[in-house]
Amino acid sequence: MQKDDLSFEGKILHTPYAKDDVYGALSMPVYQNAAFEFDSAEAMEAAFTGKSTEHTYSRITNPTVQYFEDRVKVITGALSVTALNSGMAAISNVFFTLAQSGSNIVTSRHLFGNTYSFFASTLAAFGVEVRFCDLTSPDEVEAHIDANTCAVFLEIITNPQMEVTDLAALSAITKQNGVPLVADTTIVPFCAFKAADFGINIEVVSGTKYISGGATGLGGLIIDYGNFNWLSSPKLHTTAKEFGTAAFTSKLRKEIHRNLGAYMTPHAAYMQTLGLETLTIRYERATNTCLKLATKLEKLPEVESVNYTGLPSNKYHALSLSQFGDRPGAMFTFNLASREACFHFMNKLNVVRRATNLFDNKTLAIHPASTIFGTFTPEVRKEMNISDKTIRISVGLEDVEDLFNDIKNALKII
Ligand SMILES: *Cc1c(COP(=O)(O)O)cnc(C)c1O
Repeated sequence: MQKDDLSFEGKILHTPYAKDDVYGALSMPVYQNAAFEFDSAEAMEAAFTGKSTEHTYSRITNPTVQYFEDRVKVITGALSVTALNSGMAAISNVFFTLAQSGSNIVTSRHLFGNTYSFFASTLAAFGVEVRFCDLTSPDEVEAHIDANTCAVFLEIITNPQMEVTDLAALSAITKQNGVPLVADTTIVPFCAFKAADFGINIEVVSGTKYISGGATGLGGLIIDYGNFNWLSSPKLHTTAKEFGTAAFTSKLRKEIHRNLGAYMTPHAAYMQTLGLETLTIRYERATNTCLKLATKLEKLPEVESVNYTGLPSNKYHALSLSQFGDRPGAMFTFNLASREACFHFMNKLNVVRRATNLFDNKTLAIHPASTIFGTFTPEVRKEMNISDKTIRISVGLEDVEDLFNDIKNALKII
């Protein structure tokens, strides 16, 4: 059997190293070094000027990190994959590559807290405008795009609002207008969601979540599908004349990521590679439990509403099914009567852990309004659709009955 014919899991497990290991190690060794030595000045010149692909310095490339990138490249069919040290490092590297002073980003207010702050505050200080609109309305998106739009950015299922955009409709608009579609797909990993099939050009992932294999550390990925004509990008136009569809990757790998210095560390890449090997099996178990738990919670009198796109009652159910299949992430939210009821519930949990983060092997609960969005003004929280009455649950690998009993017990008002 040829390696190309292997299944998703087969490709993850059997992607070869770039070079044979001298000891035949079955796992990729961790090359925990900063610099690489050369036999000659000529070889050194070739590596430093891009005429060879030898490693020079671990801020730029490293064999262990590259092995992780290669595996993701094989399973996604992407043009290039870049591993960074966190999801935020991936997002910031993408926008330092695409945006310049005078650019604007069209997005929604329904964003991960740090992404929102990165756009609205960090990038704003460099003269980049962020234009918030309703991404579920293609007409509104189109009305916000102009010649200075460097990207349309979205999260495929927003957290904690759980909003789903019709990606085919959105990507038709971005394609027509010559604007790249950048998507944060952290909530549904690539074993369940094929970003390129929906017209996404650049995918960003927080590897801290599913891929790390149970919250083993931070990580991030930028996946470039090579399916965008960068001649229409105000910033990458010149690069595109030389590098064509590889213009984004070229700018990112030859300049931006080297200068920002947030490349994944070898040890993190080792952990993330191990995490990849069990991704599908963990995802299947966690999403099965998530649907069962959300279904059970919907029937409890103390619970006002449950928000999970995998539930037939959810307004995005059909769209979610068509884009993410029957496994739309292992996270859901539910509403209780009040903020006080939420705090009471949080304080009574014994099995479910009080923690931020998503897709740990342990199930986690958080009250988003008072934590992740706790320093935002009430007005901004309202605009972002963050309710005081909402609890977010990230489902782990426990037995569903253990989780349900803990939640039921914590809901009792005594
Ligand atoms: C966690 C998260 C991020 C940020 O990732 P880090 O690895 O914590 O930097 C970005 N987007 C989404 C949707 C996330 O859940």
